[in-house]
Amino acid sequence: FDMRDGVIWYDGAFVPWADAKVHVLTHALHYASAVFEGERAYGGVIFKMREHNQRLVESARLLDFEIPYTVEEIDRACEETLARQGFSDAYIRPIAWRGSEMMGVSAQHNKIHLAIAVWQWPSYFDPAQRLKGIRLDLAQWRRPDPLTAPSKAKATGLYMICTMSKHAAERKGYADALMLDWRGQVAECTGANIFFVKDGVIHTPTPDCFLDGITRRTVIGLAKARGIEVVERAILPEELSGFEQCFICGTAAEVTPVAEIADWRFTVGDITSTLMNDYMAAVQPSAPKAVAAA
Ligand code: PMP
Repeated sequence: FDMRDGVIWYDGAFVPWADAKVHVLTHALHYASAVFEGERAYGGVIFKMREHNQRLVESARLLDFEIPYTVEEIDRACEETLARQGFSDAYIRPIAWRGSEMMGVSAQHNKIHLAIAVWQWPSYFDPAQRLKGIRLDLAQWRRPDPLTAPSKAKATGLYMICTMSKHAAERKGYADALMLDWRGQVAECTGANIFFVKDGVIHTPTPDCFLDGITRRTVIGLAKARGIEVVERAILPEELSGFEQCFICGTAAEVTPVAEIADWRFTVGDITSTLMNDYMAAVQPSAPKAVAAA
């Protein structure tokens, strides 16, 4: 992956893909002082780019650092990188981190870097599995209390638990893992938010200790535009047997149906299919403004 062709935007300049490196004594590598975004372009236009880059800047502030570029400058850099790579449908990964000037927990004056890479990432899950609904395991690891970690930040350190949970699930043949939070309530998957359907109503956990995904908010808007009721509330794992449909959503995952979570079973039903289609329509640059703004 690190030896691909193309260019990466790195601290304001384009560098060849293989040369976009960091020093081994980079603070972020040792102490997880990094934040990132995952964005997707459809038909040459980055969907909800402004929201993503605003979240990037806010994530950095939550980790006590200021990215030395404005949201507008980051927007432009994302668009330029996409154009330079020449893709119309692609994934955009901006990342900001503390550099290598000082080693130690404190790094008040280390340089803040920003890099943006763009590549093609057509489907986050196996396309055939996606149509039937993916299989999730229940993770051993839990999302932390917001007093323990900056849970609203898209911070690299919060993904340590995600990688461990995803690896454990994959070793058992599952596509991903559903994590509970520190209270034992249903939280999210390792890179996506989760929704359930029962009696025509959508239920989704209140995002009080995990990412309130941009896709999550889009899907809630799309459901409401269809007149489907959406209830955000605490959901306990004991309730999973009562839900008929389940799907997850995120920038990379888009809307993906879930067929199984451990011993619980779901069908790929009408509401899930409708929202999959509505989401794919909303992300297109030609989507009516009201739909895209949902
Ligand atoms: N939760 C986690 C842990 C994620 O990594 C993501 C993907 N960024 C999401 C939720 C969904 O967020 P979004 O819809 O903003 O991509």
